[in-house]
Amino acid sequence: PLDTAEHPITAYLTRLLDEVSKQNDGAVADYIPELAKADPEDLAIAITTVDGQTYAVGTVDREFTIQSVSKPFMYGYALREHGLERVLKQVGVEPTGDPFNSIVLNNENNRPFNPMVNAGAIATSELLIGATREEKIAAQMDLYEGFAGRKLSVDQAVYASESETGNRNRAIAYMMLNSGMIEGPTEAVLDLYFRQCSILVNPIDLSVMAATLAAHGRNPLTGRVMLTPGQTSDVLSVMATCGMYDYAGQWMFDVGLPAKSGVAGSVVAVIPGQLGIAVYSPKLDAVGNSVRGIQVCKRISDDLGLHAYKDR
Ligand code: GLU
Repeated sequence: PLDTAEHPITAYLTRLLDEVSKQNDGAVADYIPELAKADPEDLAIAITTVDGQTYAVGTVDREFTIQSVSKPFMYGYALREHGLERVLKQVGVEPTGDPFNSIVLNNENNRPFNPMVNAGAIATSELLIGATREEKIAAQMDLYEGFAGRKLSVDQAVYASESETGNRNRAIAYMMLNSGMIEGPTEAVLDLYFRQCSILVNPIDLSVMAATLAAHGRNPLTGRVMLTPGQTSDVLSVMATCGMYDYAGQWMFDVGLPAKSGVAGSVVAVIPGQLGIAVYSPKLDAVGNSVRGIQVCKRISDDLGLHAYKDR
């Protein structure tokens, strides 16, 4: 592989990192006690291209839990294994304008609005295939490992903390059980969802996962086909409209890229046909997005002319 240390892209990312590290707004998530242990000063940027080249700067070895960045990939799995028609019965594709943990279901049909909010993601978790819990967990890990191109593990402390404190997610699951959106048992579905959120990744993993979406579903490191191009574009469309919590509209306006963020402080953005970007910085704004993560993506989009609807 190319020596990326001296590469102009690495030099650009290093300058960007220096600049953005001066930004000190935001606070580490603490609604799950284990998340509050993150180092607020961590900052990393990783880019992986569709031909498998990675450029990474900052605290790139730091592992953190994937949290809601897991959601688009699980949605891709659901589309792949069950088909769009079946998945649409359980989860829609409409943005909510509500926070990630919104308990509101679509009034017309009791369906969760989209797979990027917790309700939709919990319903999607139930679509993991397997006769036993172990088989479902194996399918779950195979999905994320396939996208990342390496073996992954679960942060057991975060997983336990999610489960202990996840009563709002329990309420959401029970609402969906009540309206027939999930079959249950709710604890089994929630267990898969909490586990999914607690998978450990580093910034490079996330950039490879994003690059797999950029490469129309084929992992550029391993060559493994994770999704078809059609499934990939469905995932990207939902990321574009629903990926950044209740900031999704402003994000599309400013940055113009399909993206997803998670409460541990990561953001992934995809430039279809070109590359995947991942940023990790745990200090969040009021909506739950990484403050520096947003700033980095805005800058990269402006500097490289990546906004989907702006002339280059
Ligand atoms: N584990 C988190 C929850 O459901 C995911 C939150 C997120 O990253 O948006 O509460």
